[in-house]
Amino acid sequence: MLKKKKKNTFSQQRLRTQNSRNIHNNTNTNTTSTIQSRQPSVKNSKLTIAESLYNRLLLKLQNDEDWVREVRGGRRIGLYRIKGELGIGNFSRVKLAQHELTRERVAIKIIDRNNLDTKTAKMLLREISVMSSCNHPSLVRLYEVLEKKDRIYLCMQLAPGGELFTRLTQIGKYTEDRAKFLFLQIASGIKYMHDHGMIHRDLKAENIFYVSKNRVVIGDFGFATKLSRMDQHLYTFCGSPPYAAPELFKDDHYIGPAVDIWALGILLYFMVTGNMPFKSSTVSGLKHAILEGIYYNPTTISDECKELINSMLQRNPDNRLHLEDLLKHEWLHGHNWVQEDKDFVPYPRLGSENLSDVEKCVINELGRLGIAQKDFSMEMGLGIRSKAVGAYRILLTRTLLQLAQGKTRLVRKSLKNPDSASIGVNTDPVTSAHDLHEVVLSDENSGASGEIQRSKSTGFVGKKGSTTSSSKQQSKLCNIL
Ligand code: ATP
Repeated sequence: MLKKKKKNTFSQQRLRTQNSRNIHNNTNTNTTSTIQSRQPSVKNSKLTIAESLYNRLLLKLQNDEDWVREVRGGRRIGLYRIKGELGIGNFSRVKLAQHELTRERVAIKIIDRNNLDTKTAKMLLREISVMSSCNHPSLVRLYEVLEKKDRIYLCMQLAPGGELFTRLTQIGKYTEDRAKFLFLQIASGIKYMHDHGMIHRDLKAENIFYVSKNRVVIGDFGFATKLSRMDQHLYTFCGSPPYAAPELFKDDHYIGPAVDIWALGILLYFMVTGNMPFKSSTVSGLKHAILEGIYYNPTTISDECKELINSMLQRNPDNRLHLEDLLKHEWLHGHNWVQEDKDFVPYPRLGSENLSDVEKCVINELGRLGIAQKDFSMEMGLGIRSKAVGAYRILLTRTLLQLAQGKTRLVRKSLKNPDSASIGVNTDPVTSAHDLHEVVLSDENSGASGEIQRSKSTGFVGKKGSTTSSSKQQSKLCNIL
Protein backbone atom coordinates (compact mmCIF):
# COMPACT_ATOMS: atom_id res chain seq x y z
CA MET A 1 0.00 0.00 0.00
CA LEU A 2 2.86 2.29 0.91
CA LYS A 3 4.32 1.78 -2.54
CA LYS A 4 1.02 2.58 -4.19
CA LYS A 5 0.64 5.80 -2.25
CA LYS A 6 4.13 6.80 -3.26
CA LYS A 7 3.33 6.09 -6.90
CA ASN A 8 0.22 8.24 -6.88
CA THR A 9 2.12 11.04 -5.30
CA PHE A 10 4.75 10.62 -7.97
CA SER A 11 2.31 10.83 -10.87
CA GLN A 12 0.47 13.80 -9.36
CA GLN A 13 3.76 15.53 -8.76
CA ARG A 14 4.88 14.73 -12.29
CA LEU A 15 1.69 16.14 -13.78
CA ARG A 16 2.10 19.28 -11.72
CA THR A 17 5.69 19.61 -12.87
CA GLN A 18 4.61 19.14 -16.46
CA ASN A 19 1.82 21.65 -16.21
CA SER A 20 4.07 24.23 -14.67
CA ARG A 21 6.80 23.46 -17.19
CA ASN A 22 4.31 23.83 -20.00
CA ILE A 23 2.98 27.10 -18.71
CA HIS A 24 6.56 28.27 -18.33
CA ASN A 25 7.29 27.21 -21.89
CA ASN A 26 4.21 28.96 -23.09
CA THR A 27 5.37 32.29 -21.82
CA ASN A 28 8.98 31.95 -22.86
CA THR A 29 9.17 29.91 -26.00
CA ASN A 30 7.45 29.70 -29.28
CA THR A 31 5.67 26.38 -28.87
CA THR A 32 3.52 25.07 -31.66
CA SER A 33 1.25 22.46 -30.06
CA THR A 34 -1.86 23.33 -28.15
CA ILE A 35 -4.53 21.06 -26.74
CA GLN A 36 -7.91 21.86 -25.31
CA SER A 37 -7.84 20.36 -21.84
CA ARG A 38 -11.10 18.75 -20.79
CA GLN A 39 -10.37 18.81 -17.10
CA PRO A 40 -13.00 20.87 -15.23
CA SER A 41 -10.39 23.16 -13.73
CA VAL A 42 -9.05 24.16 -17.11
CA LYS A 43 -12.21 23.55 -19.08
CA ASN A 44 -12.37 26.85 -20.88
CA SER A 45 -8.74 27.67 -21.19
CA LYS A 46 -6.31 26.64 -23.87
CA LEU A 47 -3.36 24.82 -22.34
CA THR A 48 -0.25 25.26 -24.42
CA ILE A 49 2.23 22.51 -23.93
CA ALA A 50 5.84 21.83 -24.73
CA GLU A 51 6.67 20.28 -28.07
CA SER A 52 7.04 16.85 -26.58
CA LEU A 53 5.03 13.89 -27.67
CA TYR A 54 5.75 12.10 -24.39
CA ASN A 55 4.37 14.99 -22.32
CA ARG A 56 1.37 15.31 -24.59
CA LEU A 57 0.55 11.63 -24.20
CA LEU A 58 0.93 11.77 -20.41
CA LEU A 59 -1.39 14.76 -20.28
CA LYS A 60 -3.91 13.06 -22.54
CA LEU A 61 -3.98 10.10 -20.17
CA GLN A 62 -5.18 12.44 -17.43
CA ASN A 63 -7.24 14.95 -19.40
CA ASP A 64 -8.52 13.61 -22.66
CA GLU A 65 -12.12 12.43 -22.31
CA ASP A 66 -11.80 9.73 -24.97
CA TRP A 67 -8.64 8.36 -23.45
CA VAL A 68 -10.04 8.39 -19.94
CA ARG A 69 -13.12 6.53 -21.21
CA GLU A 70 -10.91 3.98 -22.98
CA VAL A 71 -8.86 3.45 -19.82
CA ARG A 72 -12.06 2.81 -17.85
CA GLY A 73 -13.32 0.42 -20.53
CA GLY A 74 -10.07 -1.58 -20.54
CA ARG A 75 -9.16 -0.48 -24.07
CA ARG A 76 -6.17 1.50 -22.93
CA ILE A 77 -3.57 1.04 -20.22
CA GLY A 78 -0.73 3.48 -19.63
CA LEU A 79 0.74 4.38 -23.00
CA TYR A 80 -0.66 1.24 -24.62
CA ARG A 81 -3.82 1.02 -26.73
CA ILE A 82 -5.36 -2.47 -26.72
CA LYS A 83 -5.96 -3.77 -30.25
CA GLY A 84 -7.10 -7.37 -29.84
CA GLU A 85 -6.64 -10.68 -28.07
CA LEU A 86 -3.71 -13.06 -28.55
CA GLY A 87 -4.67 -15.86 -26.19
CA ILE A 88 -6.01 -16.99 -22.86
CA GLY A 89 -3.96 -18.75 -20.19
CA ASN A 90 -4.90 -20.33 -16.86
CA PHE A 91 -4.34 -17.14 -14.90
CA SER A 92 -4.25 -14.47 -17.56
CA ARG A 93 -5.34 -13.07 -20.88
CA VAL A 94 -2.78 -11.91 -23.41
CA LYS A 95 -3.73 -8.91 -25.53
CA LEU A 96 -2.24 -7.34 -28.62
CA ALA A 97 -1.54 -3.66 -28.02
CA GLN A 98 0.26 -0.70 -29.53
CA HIS A 99 2.64 1.58 -27.66
CA GLU A 100 1.47 5.10 -28.50
CA LEU A 101 4.89 6.72 -28.29
CA THR A 102 6.98 4.32 -30.38
CA ARG A 103 4.07 2.83 -32.37
CA GLU A 104 5.51 -0.60 -31.60
CA ARG A 105 3.11 -3.52 -31.22
CA VAL A 106 3.46 -5.45 -27.98
CA ALA A 107 1.84 -8.33 -26.11
CA ILE A 108 0.25 -7.50 -22.76
CA LYS A 109 -0.40 -10.24 -20.26
CA ILE A 110 -3.24 -9.17 -17.99
CA ILE A 111 -3.56 -10.85 -14.62
CA ASP A 112 -6.63 -10.39 -12.47
CA ARG A 113 -5.47 -9.99 -8.87
CA ASN A 114 -8.65 -11.68 -7.66
CA ASN A 115 -7.60 -14.87 -9.41
CA LEU A 116 -4.34 -15.07 -7.52
CA ASP A 117 -3.80 -17.01 -4.32
CA THR A 118 -0.59 -16.68 -2.32
CA LYS A 119 1.14 -19.34 -4.37
CA THR A 120 0.24 -17.96 -7.80
CA ALA A 121 1.05 -14.44 -6.60
CA LYS A 122 4.55 -15.65 -5.70
CA MET A 123 4.84 -17.31 -9.11
CA LEU A 124 3.90 -14.05 -10.77
CA LEU A 125 6.56 -12.18 -8.81
CA ARG A 126 9.10 -14.78 -9.91
CA GLU A 127 7.94 -14.49 -13.51
CA ILE A 128 8.47 -10.72 -13.40
CA SER A 129 11.82 -11.07 -11.69
CA VAL A 130 13.09 -13.73 -14.13
CA MET A 131 11.81 -11.92 -17.22
CA SER A 132 13.24 -8.58 -16.24
CA SER A 133 16.68 -10.06 -15.62
CA CYS A 134 16.83 -12.09 -18.83
CA ASN A 135 18.88 -10.58 -21.56
CA HIS A 136 19.05 -12.95 -24.48
CA PRO A 137 17.63 -12.75 -28.02
CA SER A 138 15.95 -16.15 -27.52
CA LEU A 139 14.00 -15.06 -24.44
CA VAL A 140 10.87 -12.89 -24.61
CA ARG A 141 11.68 -9.40 -23.42
CA LEU A 142 9.71 -7.71 -20.65
CA TYR A 143 9.25 -3.98 -21.35
CA GLU A 144 7.15 -2.61 -18.54
CA VAL A 145 4.92 -3.65 -15.65
CA LEU A 146 1.78 -1.68 -14.82
CA GLU A 147 -0.18 -2.22 -11.64
CA LYS A 148 -3.76 -1.21 -11.05
CA LYS A 149 -6.11 -1.94 -8.17
CA ASP A 150 -7.55 -5.11 -9.73
CA ARG A 151 -5.04 -6.02 -12.37
CA ILE A 152 -1.40 -6.38 -13.20
CA TYR A 153 -0.14 -5.86 -16.74
CA LEU A 154 3.06 -7.34 -18.12
CA CYS A 155 3.94 -5.51 -21.33
CA MET A 156 6.30 -7.66 -23.35
CA GLN A 157 7.83 -8.28 -26.73
CA LEU A 158 5.25 -9.39 -29.28
CA ALA A 159 5.90 -12.66 -31.03
CA PRO A 160 3.66 -12.18 -34.06
CA GLY A 161 4.47 -15.45 -35.81
CA GLY A 162 2.55 -17.68 -33.41
CA GLU A 163 3.61 -20.81 -31.58
CA LEU A 164 6.05 -23.50 -32.68
CA PHE A 165 3.35 -25.96 -31.58
CA THR A 166 0.88 -24.60 -34.16
CA ARG A 167 3.46 -24.76 -36.95
CA LEU A 168 4.42 -28.35 -36.11
CA THR A 169 0.88 -29.59 -35.79
CA GLN A 170 -0.49 -27.75 -38.83
CA ILE A 171 2.43 -27.94 -41.24
CA GLY A 172 4.35 -30.94 -39.89
CA LYS A 173 7.89 -31.83 -38.89
CA TYR A 174 10.96 -29.84 -39.85
CA THR A 175 13.94 -31.01 -41.86
CA GLU A 176 16.91 -31.71 -39.61
CA ASP A 177 18.71 -28.59 -40.86
CA ARG A 178 15.77 -26.34 -40.06
CA ALA A 179 15.22 -28.06 -36.70
CA LYS A 180 18.91 -27.65 -35.86
CA PHE A 181 18.78 -23.94 -36.61
CA LEU A 182 15.74 -23.37 -34.37
CA PHE A 183 16.78 -25.85 -31.69
CA LEU A 184 20.10 -24.03 -31.24
CA GLN A 185 18.25 -20.77 -30.57
CA ILE A 186 16.06 -22.47 -27.97
CA ALA A 187 18.94 -24.34 -26.30
CA SER A 188 20.96 -21.10 -26.23
CA GLY A 189 18.15 -19.33 -24.37
CA ILE A 190 17.95 -22.17 -21.84
CA LYS A 191 21.74 -22.24 -21.44
CA TYR A 192 21.69 -18.49 -20.77
CA MET A 193 19.06 -19.04 -18.08
CA HIS A 194 21.06 -21.86 -16.46
CA ASP A 195 24.28 -19.84 -16.61
CA HIS A 196 22.46 -17.08 -14.74
CA GLY A 197 20.91 -19.31 -12.08
CA MET A 198 17.43 -19.62 -13.62
CA ILE A 199 15.34 -22.66 -14.59
CA HIS A 200 12.41 -22.40 -17.02
CA ARG A 201 10.47 -25.52 -15.93
CA ASP A 202 7.79 -25.24 -18.60
CA LEU A 203 9.63 -25.69 -21.85
CA LYS A 204 7.26 -26.92 -24.57
CA ALA A 205 6.38 -26.16 -28.19
CA GLU A 206 3.40 -24.05 -26.98
CA ASN A 207 5.84 -21.72 -25.23
CA ILE A 208 8.16 -21.18 -28.19
CA PHE A 209 7.07 -18.26 -30.35
CA TYR A 210 8.15 -16.95 -33.72
CA VAL A 211 9.24 -13.30 -33.65
CA SER A 212 10.16 -13.48 -37.32
CA LYS A 213 10.48 -16.19 -39.98
CA ASN A 214 13.85 -17.37 -38.74
CA ARG A 215 13.84 -16.32 -35.12
CA VAL A 216 12.12 -17.93 -32.18
CA VAL A 217 11.89 -16.90 -28.54
CA ILE A 218 11.01 -18.80 -25.39
CA GLY A 219 8.10 -17.27 -23.48
CA ASP A 220 5.87 -17.95 -20.49
CA PHE A 221 8.13 -17.78 -17.46
CA GLY A 222 5.24 -18.50 -15.10
CA PHE A 223 6.96 -21.58 -13.62
CA ALA A 224 10.49 -20.26 -13.87
CA THR A 225 12.60 -19.91 -10.77
CA LYS A 226 15.88 -18.41 -9.66
CA LEU A 227 18.31 -20.56 -7.72
CA SER A 228 21.26 -19.74 -5.53
CA ARG A 229 22.88 -23.08 -6.46
CA MET A 230 22.18 -25.10 -9.57
CA ASP A 231 22.28 -28.41 -7.66
CA GLN A 232 19.63 -27.11 -5.25
CA HIS A 233 16.75 -29.55 -4.60
CA LEU A 234 13.38 -28.43 -5.94
CA TYR A 235 10.09 -29.84 -4.73
CA THR A 236 7.32 -28.24 -6.77
CA PHE A 237 6.03 -30.31 -9.65
CA CYS A 238 5.43 -27.93 -12.50
CA GLY A 239 5.27 -27.94 -16.25
CA SER A 240 3.38 -29.96 -18.80
CA PRO A 241 3.06 -33.77 -18.39
CA PRO A 242 4.23 -34.76 -21.91
CA TYR A 243 7.46 -32.83 -21.29
CA ALA A 244 7.95 -33.91 -17.67
CA ALA A 245 11.15 -35.78 -16.74
CA PRO A 246 10.73 -39.18 -14.98
CA GLU A 247 12.14 -37.91 -11.66
CA LEU A 248 9.22 -35.48 -11.45
CA PHE A 249 6.88 -38.48 -11.24
CA LYS A 250 8.88 -40.67 -8.91
CA ASP A 251 11.18 -38.70 -6.60
CA ASP A 252 10.22 -36.20 -3.93
CA HIS A 253 12.72 -33.71 -5.28
CA TYR A 254 14.54 -32.92 -8.51
CA ILE A 255 17.45 -30.87 -9.84
CA GLY A 256 16.39 -27.92 -12.03
CA PRO A 257 18.72 -27.97 -15.08
CA ALA A 258 18.11 -31.69 -15.73
CA VAL A 259 14.33 -31.22 -16.14
CA ASP A 260 14.88 -28.43 -18.70
CA ILE A 261 17.29 -30.68 -20.62
CA TRP A 262 14.77 -33.54 -20.67
CA ALA A 263 12.16 -31.11 -22.04
CA LEU A 264 14.66 -29.99 -24.71
CA GLY A 265 14.99 -33.66 -25.74
CA ILE A 266 11.19 -34.01 -26.06
CA LEU A 267 11.05 -30.77 -28.03
CA LEU A 268 13.77 -31.85 -30.47
CA TYR A 269 12.00 -35.20 -31.00
CA PHE A 270 8.76 -33.32 -31.74
CA MET A 271 10.52 -30.98 -34.18
CA VAL A 272 12.17 -33.68 -36.27
CA THR A 273 9.34 -36.24 -36.21
CA GLY A 274 6.15 -34.19 -35.77
CA ASN A 275 5.23 -36.62 -32.95
CA MET A 276 5.69 -36.82 -29.22
CA PRO A 277 7.93 -39.63 -27.90
CA PHE A 278 5.61 -40.39 -24.97
CA LYS A 279 1.88 -40.33 -25.58
CA SER A 280 -1.23 -41.27 -23.69
CA SER A 281 -4.76 -39.96 -23.32
CA THR A 282 -4.40 -39.91 -19.51
CA VAL A 283 -1.81 -38.43 -17.18
CA SER A 284 -1.34 -41.81 -15.47
CA GLY A 285 -0.75 -43.48 -18.85
CA LEU A 286 1.76 -40.79 -19.72
CA LYS A 287 3.48 -41.18 -16.38
CA HIS A 288 3.78 -44.92 -16.99
CA ALA A 289 5.24 -44.39 -20.49
CA ILE A 290 7.76 -41.81 -19.24
CA LEU A 291 8.85 -43.97 -16.31
CA GLU A 292 9.29 -46.94 -18.65
CA GLY A 293 11.35 -44.66 -20.89
CA ILE A 294 10.59 -46.60 -24.05
CA TYR A 295 9.82 -44.55 -27.12
CA TYR A 296 9.75 -45.30 -30.83
CA ASN A 297 13.07 -44.55 -32.53
CA PRO A 298 12.06 -43.12 -35.90
CA THR A 299 13.88 -44.46 -38.94
CA THR A 300 13.52 -41.18 -40.84
CA ILE A 301 16.07 -39.25 -38.79
CA SER A 302 19.86 -39.44 -38.83
CA ASP A 303 21.74 -41.59 -36.32
CA GLU A 304 23.44 -38.44 -34.94
CA CYS A 305 20.11 -36.78 -34.24
CA LYS A 306 18.73 -39.97 -32.65
CA GLU A 307 21.81 -40.22 -30.49
CA LEU A 308 21.49 -36.62 -29.31
CA ILE A 309 17.81 -37.09 -28.42
CA ASN A 310 18.71 -40.28 -26.59
CA SER A 311 21.39 -38.49 -24.55
CA MET A 312 18.83 -35.89 -23.42
CA LEU A 313 16.12 -38.47 -22.68
CA GLN A 314 18.18 -40.43 -20.18
CA ARG A 315 15.92 -41.62 -17.35
CA ASN A 316 18.62 -41.11 -14.75
CA PRO A 317 19.20 -37.33 -14.51
CA ASP A 318 22.86 -37.94 -13.59
CA ASN A 319 23.42 -39.58 -16.97
CA ARG A 320 21.61 -36.88 -18.94
CA LEU A 321 23.54 -34.62 -21.30
CA HIS A 322 24.90 -31.40 -19.79
CA LEU A 323 24.20 -28.27 -21.80
CA GLU A 324 27.90 -27.33 -21.80
CA ASP A 325 28.51 -30.52 -23.81
CA LEU A 326 25.71 -29.96 -26.34
CA LEU A 327 27.86 -28.34 -29.01
CA LYS A 328 30.41 -31.14 -28.73
CA HIS A 329 27.78 -33.51 -30.09
CA GLU A 330 28.26 -34.61 -33.67
CA TRP A 331 24.80 -33.45 -34.76
CA LEU A 332 25.71 -29.87 -33.83
CA HIS A 333 29.32 -30.05 -34.86
CA GLY A 334 30.67 -26.66 -36.01
CA HIS A 335 27.73 -24.65 -34.64
CA ASN A 336 27.87 -21.83 -32.09
CA TRP A 337 25.63 -20.71 -29.29
CA VAL A 338 23.38 -17.72 -29.90
CA GLN A 339 25.07 -15.21 -27.63
CA GLU A 340 23.36 -12.97 -25.11
CA ASP A 341 22.61 -9.40 -26.19
CA LYS A 342 25.59 -7.52 -24.87
CA ASP A 343 24.09 -4.40 -26.45
CA PHE A 344 20.86 -4.76 -24.51
CA VAL A 345 21.52 -2.55 -21.52
CA PRO A 346 18.29 -2.96 -19.53
CA TYR A 347 18.23 0.54 -18.05
CA PRO A 348 19.48 3.73 -19.72
CA ARG A 349 22.94 4.64 -18.48
CA LEU A 350 22.42 8.27 -17.74
CA GLY A 351 25.43 10.50 -18.28
CA SER A 352 27.71 7.61 -19.24
CA GLU A 353 30.51 8.43 -21.63
CA ASN A 354 30.81 4.85 -22.82
CA LEU A 355 27.47 4.43 -24.54
CA SER A 356 27.42 1.96 -27.41
CA ASP A 357 26.28 3.14 -30.84
CA VAL A 358 22.97 1.35 -30.33
CA GLU A 359 22.40 3.02 -26.97
CA LYS A 360 23.20 6.44 -28.46
CA CYS A 361 20.80 5.78 -31.29
CA VAL A 362 17.99 4.77 -28.94
CA ILE A 363 18.59 7.60 -26.50
CA ASN A 364 18.57 10.15 -29.31
CA GLU A 365 15.36 8.67 -30.67
CA LEU A 366 13.80 8.93 -27.20
CA GLY A 367 14.96 12.55 -26.99
CA ARG A 368 13.20 13.18 -30.28
CA LEU A 369 10.02 11.66 -28.85
CA GLY A 370 10.30 13.93 -25.83
CA ILE A 371 11.76 11.71 -23.12
CA ALA A 372 14.42 13.85 -21.58
CA GLN A 373 17.19 12.99 -19.15
CA LYS A 374 15.17 14.55 -16.35
CA ASP A 375 12.26 12.22 -17.16
CA PHE A 376 14.52 9.25 -16.63
CA SER A 377 15.95 10.76 -13.46
CA MET A 378 12.43 11.25 -12.11
CA GLU A 379 11.25 7.77 -13.04
CA MET A 380 14.36 5.68 -12.50
CA GLY A 381 13.29 4.65 -9.00
CA LEU A 382 10.28 2.92 -10.55
CA GLY A 383 12.52 0.49 -12.46
CA ILE A 384 10.50 -1.80 -14.72
CA ARG A 385 7.36 0.14 -13.72
CA SER A 386 8.59 3.33 -15.42
CA LYS A 387 6.95 4.48 -18.67
CA ALA A 388 10.21 6.04 -19.84
CA VAL A 389 12.13 2.81 -19.19
CA GLY A 390 9.35 0.91 -21.01
CA ALA A 391 9.80 3.12 -24.09
CA TYR A 392 13.59 2.74 -23.86
CA ARG A 393 13.35 -1.07 -23.74
CA ILE A 394 10.92 -1.15 -26.66
CA LEU A 395 13.16 0.96 -28.87
CA LEU A 396 16.29 -0.92 -27.86
CA THR A 397 14.69 -4.29 -28.62
CA ARG A 398 13.37 -3.02 -31.95
CA THR A 399 16.75 -1.61 -32.96
CA LEU A 400 18.63 -4.79 -32.03
CA LEU A 401 16.12 -6.95 -33.88
CA GLN A 402 16.34 -4.76 -36.98
CA LEU A 403 20.12 -4.86 -36.88
CA ALA A 404 20.08 -8.64 -36.49
CA GLN A 405 17.74 -8.96 -39.45
CA GLY A 406 19.81 -6.54 -41.52
CA LYS A 407 16.74 -4.32 -41.91
CA THR A 408 18.59 -1.27 -40.68
CA ARG A 409 22.08 -0.01 -40.10
CA LEU A 410 23.54 2.60 -37.84
CA VAL A 411 24.65 5.76 -39.59
CA ARG A 412 26.90 8.35 -38.06
CA LYS A 413 25.83 11.97 -38.22
CA SER A 414 27.46 15.04 -36.76
CA LEU A 415 26.31 17.27 -33.94
CA LYS A 416 27.26 20.79 -32.94
CA ASN A 417 26.71 20.55 -29.24
CA PRO A 418 28.22 17.57 -27.40
CA ASP A 419 25.46 17.77 -24.81
CA SER A 420 22.86 17.14 -27.44
CA ALA A 421 24.13 13.59 -27.82
CA SER A 422 22.74 12.81 -24.43
CA ILE A 423 19.07 12.31 -23.84
CA GLY A 424 16.56 14.99 -23.16
CA VAL A 425 17.88 17.86 -25.21
CA ASN A 426 15.42 20.16 -26.92
CA THR A 427 17.51 20.59 -30.05
CA ASP A 428 16.74 18.29 -32.89
CA PRO A 429 19.85 16.11 -32.88
CA VAL A 430 19.63 15.19 -36.53
CA THR A 431 19.56 18.76 -37.78
CA SER A 432 22.25 20.01 -35.43
CA ALA A 433 25.79 20.05 -36.71
CA HIS A 434 29.24 19.17 -36.29
CA ASP A 435 31.49 18.37 -33.35
CA LEU A 436 30.21 15.07 -32.07
CA HIS A 437 29.09 11.99 -33.88
CA GLU A 438 25.57 10.88 -33.33
CA VAL A 439 24.06 7.59 -34.39
CA VAL A 440 20.68 7.37 -36.04
CA LEU A 441 18.69 4.63 -37.66
CA SER A 442 18.89 4.71 -41.43
CA ASP A 443 15.75 2.69 -42.06
CA GLU A 444 12.29 2.85 -40.57
CA ASN A 445 11.37 -0.78 -41.13
CA SER A 446 9.79 -1.25 -37.73
CA GLY A 447 7.18 -3.65 -36.42
CA ALA A 448 7.09 -7.25 -37.43
CA SER A 449 4.02 -8.70 -39.05
CA GLY A 450 2.59 -12.15 -39.35
CA GLU A 451 -0.06 -14.50 -38.29
CA ILE A 452 -1.28 -14.24 -34.73
CA GLN A 453 -2.47 -17.46 -33.27
CA ARG A 454 -4.19 -18.62 -30.18
CA SER A 455 -3.73 -21.72 -28.14
CA LYS A 456 -4.74 -23.44 -24.97
CA SER A 457 -2.35 -24.26 -22.15
CA THR A 458 -1.61 -27.72 -20.88
CA GLY A 459 0.66 -26.62 -18.05
CA PHE A 460 -0.02 -27.36 -14.42
CA VAL A 461 1.55 -26.79 -11.07
CA GLY A 462 1.28 -28.32 -7.67
CA LYS A 463 2.98 -30.59 -5.20
CA LYS A 464 3.80 -34.02 -6.52
CA GLY A 465 0.55 -35.71 -7.54
CA SER A 466 -1.68 -32.64 -7.47
CA THR A 467 -3.01 -30.75 -10.48
CA THR A 468 -3.61 -27.09 -11.28
CA SER A 469 -4.15 -24.87 -8.29
CA SER A 470 -7.38 -22.90 -8.15
CA SER A 471 -7.31 -19.50 -9.75
CA LYS A 472 -10.44 -18.39 -7.93
CA GLN A 473 -8.93 -17.70 -4.52
CA GLN A 474 -9.17 -14.18 -3.29
CA SER A 475 -5.65 -13.35 -2.06
CA LYS A 476 -4.51 -9.98 -3.29
CA LEU A 477 -1.18 -9.47 -4.90
CA CYS A 478 -1.09 -5.80 -3.94
CA ASN A 479 0.03 -6.79 -0.48
CA ILE A 480 3.04 -8.53 -1.86
CA LEU A 481 4.08 -6.21 -4.67
P1 ATP B 1 -0.53 -20.63 -18.55
O1 ATP B 1 -1.60 -19.87 -17.88
O2 ATP B 1 -0.43 -22.03 -18.10
O3 ATP B 1 0.79 -19.93 -18.54
P2 ATP B 1 -0.54 -20.12 -21.37
O4 ATP B 1 0.90 -20.40 -21.60
O5 ATP B 1 -1.44 -20.54 -22.49
O6 ATP B 1 -1.01 -20.78 -20.05
P3 ATP B 1 -0.14 -17.29 -21.33
O7 ATP B 1 1.33 -17.29 -21.14
O8 ATP B 1 -0.94 -16.37 -20.52
O9 ATP B 1 -0.81 -18.63 -21.04
O10 ATP B 1 -0.41 -17.04 -22.87
C1 ATP B 1 -1.69 -17.15 -23.46
C2 ATP B 1 -1.53 -17.18 -24.97
O11 ATP B 1 -1.13 -15.88 -25.41
C3 ATP B 1 -0.42 -18.11 -25.43
O12 ATP B 1 -0.91 -19.37 -25.68
C4 ATP B 1 0.12 -17.43 -26.69
O13 ATP B 1 -0.50 -17.94 -27.84
C5 ATP B 1 -0.21 -15.97 -26.48
N1 ATP B 1 1.00 -15.24 -26.13
C6 ATP B 1 1.64 -15.22 -24.93
N2 ATP B 1 2.70 -14.44 -24.96
C7 ATP B 1 2.78 -13.93 -26.21
C8 ATP B 1 3.68 -13.03 -26.89
N3 ATP B 1 4.72 -12.48 -26.25
N4 ATP B 1 3.43 -12.74 -28.18
C9 ATP B 1 2.38 -13.29 -28.82
N5 ATP B 1 1.51 -14.12 -28.25
C10 ATP B 1 1.69 -14.44 -26.97
